Amino acid sequence: VPERFPREKHGIDRRNVSRHAIKVCEVLRAEGYEAYIVGGAVRDLIVGLEPKDFDVATNATPNQIRPLFRRARIIGKRFQLVHVVFGQEIIETSTFRATAVSDEHTDEHGRILRDNLFGSQQEDADRRDFTLNALYYDPINEEVIDYHRGVADLKNRVVRMIGDPEKRYREDPVRMLRALRFAAKLNGTIDPATQTPIAQLSGLIEHVPSSRLFDETLKLLTCGHAMDCLRQLQTAGLHKGLLPLIDVIFQEDGGEQFIELALARTDARVRAGKTISPSFLFAALLWKLVNKRWQALCAEGEHPAQALMQAADSVVAEQTRKLAIQRRFQADMREIWFMQARFERVNAKAIWRMIEQPRFRAAVDFLQLRAEAREVDSVQAQWWMDLANADHATRGEMIETYQ
Ligand code: ATP
Ligand code: MG
Repeated sequence: VPERFPREKHGIDRRNVSRHAIKVCEVLRAEGYEAYIVGGAVRDLIVGLEPKDFDVATNATPNQIRPLFRRARIIGKRFQLVHVVFGQEIIETSTFRATAVSDEHTDEHGRILRDNLFGSQQEDADRRDFTLNALYYDPINEEVIDYHRGVADLKNRVVRMIGDPEKRYREDPVRMLRALRFAAKLNGTIDPATQTPIAQLSGLIEHVPSSRLFDETLKLLTCGHAMDCLRQLQTAGLHKGLLPLIDVIFQEDGGEQFIELALARTDARVRAGKTISPSFLFAALLWKLVNKRWQALCAEGEHPAQALMQAADSVVAEQTRKLAIQRRFQADMREIWFMQARFERVNAKAIWRMIEQPRFRAAVDFLQLRAEAREVDSVQAQWWMDLANADHATRGEMIETYQ
């Protein structure tokens, strides 16, 4: 039987709960179904963080859910769920789900290939990853329902796998990355039994589709504690399947410092609620290697712009053999890098052309990062920053008096 926590014990303030998520639960309840807010939102609310989004779990099926809302659509092929839309907010509403337990549903490493059976609330709790991610909040009577002592783990900030950790990592190796992320995000620890298998199983990451790996890696680097996560990845050996070049870059002169600066910026933006550009982030992570190869090619007498292009191509090719960075991000990374060469020697006409580039702003931010790392002159970097911030007339004056 699950533990039930009343308002005074879990401390969730209903005013911090999305009114749309509450609405979805109320509508389902009025129709006689069970409905709860579940997962990350409940976890974050209990520890006083602002949830990114709200998910609802119910015993109603997608076909029963959809007609109850004015704007709702069924998504997903194998496992269907319903997106209930309220203006900008989407409440992801899914039916309680169970884990399939036959060999047909797993690959030779134990990885789950199909996960599409409806189930009970208990089964839905059992198939979730960590105890602190398996909490259900009933917004109507303000009760938290806990099948796996997740509230206690959450209060102690311990990330603990539900079930047998090794088996659960084999089912879905991405859970290794999630364990690190939640520990970092909550300033907590990973329970030893949950931590131990990771070192041995880290290689399983290779069998995960690369688009999913990219998403989870991005979440890891934008959870507000990026450097912490990166070091944990290295300790566990998990970075080998994701960001293999990090090892090389850390050994470069100033490489570690550059990444630290870039990630500190990312963390600051995340905590201020600002958006993160994945291309900027990956451009920064790989920069020191690009820069090193660029300088080497220049020293061999290659034309600077050509040299930078070659350096970028070789680094991106090596990186993406492991973790596929989507093409559109790759294109943006290249633009950010290429503009670094152009900041050095330009005339007025070229400056006007640069301003019109869609990634000009990001490239100027990147130049500022390089100035912080003492790679370029900070007065110079500031001039470009001021130019980016200026209106058209001021830009004209600045460019006229350039040099
Ligand atoms: P975030 O703050 O990143 O959104 P989250 O916990 O909400 O964190 P999601 O990826 O949005 O993470 O997943 C929602 C919920 O689904 C989780 O809280 C967890 O209960 C369950 N879940 C997600 N991924 C897995 C997984 N790989 N294995 C088992 N359960 C998972
Ligand atoms: Mg979520």
